[in-house]
Amino acid sequence: MGKILFWLVVVGVVVLLMRLAAKKRVPPPDGGRKKEVEDMVRCRVCGVNLPRSEAILSRGRFYCSQEHRNQDQA
Ligand SMILES: [Zn+2]
Repeated sequence: MGKILFWLVVVGVVVLLMRLAAKKRVPPPDGGRKKEVEDMVRCRVCGVNLPRSEAILSRGRFYCSQEHRNQDQA
């Protein structure tokens, strides 16, 4: 009886190790890389390039700052 219990434990440990090994082989999700390939847009006033999420969009045009937006549309 003790022997059966021993083998159950051994099999359990082996299965656990195999699962951990399989997990490690899975490549990391691409989520972290998305920001690097984010669209770059150009400020209409000074021409600086900046990520789309940081740019100010107004009337279909991009600006680096509120100041430049006002300057162009004054
Ligand atoms: Zn600008």
